[in-house]
Amino acid sequence: MRKPKLRELGEAVKALTTRAYTIKFPFEPSEPFEAFRGKPEYSDEYCVGCGACANVCPPGAIDILDDIQEKKRRLILHLDNCIYCGQCELNCITEKGIKLTREYDLATLDRSTLVEKVEKNLLLCELCGAVIGTEEHVRWVAERLGTAAFSNPTVMLVAMKELSVVREEKAEKSEVTDRADRLRVLCPRCRKETTVNF
Ligand code: SF4
Ligand code: SF4
Repeated sequence: MRKPKLRELGEAVKALTTRAYTIKFPFEPSEPFEAFRGKPEYSDEYCVGCGACANVCPPGAIDILDDIQEKKRRLILHLDNCIYCGQCELNCITEKGIKLTREYDLATLDRSTLVEKVEKNLLLCELCGAVIGTEEHVRWVAERLGTAAFSNPTVMLVAMKELSVVREEKAEKSEVTDRADRLRVLCPRCRKETTVNF
């Protein structure tokens, strides 16, 4: 057997007396670096439910589920499909609706727990019941448009609902439209019908 050289013996003694280079994770916490891309998290305050994050997500890890009966839109982010690319954060229209945190320890035996959700109120066409978007998204658009929001009755009415000067109408399927229907919350198809036909 080859005998250890003096230099190697010196290295071994040094290794015994110095701090370990590795971290005892998971027994001790391991702090990720500042720009680490970990678990994405929605902000209920800043997300308006537009769905842009789902459209840009490369692996399709975000589902948009519209529940017409409950008038709710749910965005479900499946963390087990997420590749932590950060495109959702980068393309979020409000810039604060979803953020990648530095959380990385997501190991679990139950994949159904690997979800991140946000829920918003749906806005439905008052004539045909079609999905227009979410109330918060339309309000967000109205804020950006300022006085120009008054050129679109749907945007104007949703913005005025905030001020409690507009009564909420129940969505009812109907093929009959008239002139008065112009001042309603309408999908593009019904808006065209009430504008072009009367
Ligand atoms: S506001 Fe941002 S986080 Fe919310 S649905 Fe739109 S893109 Fe996604
Ligand atoms: S980080 Fe990338 S993969 Fe993960 S949800 Fe956002 S866009 Fe999709």
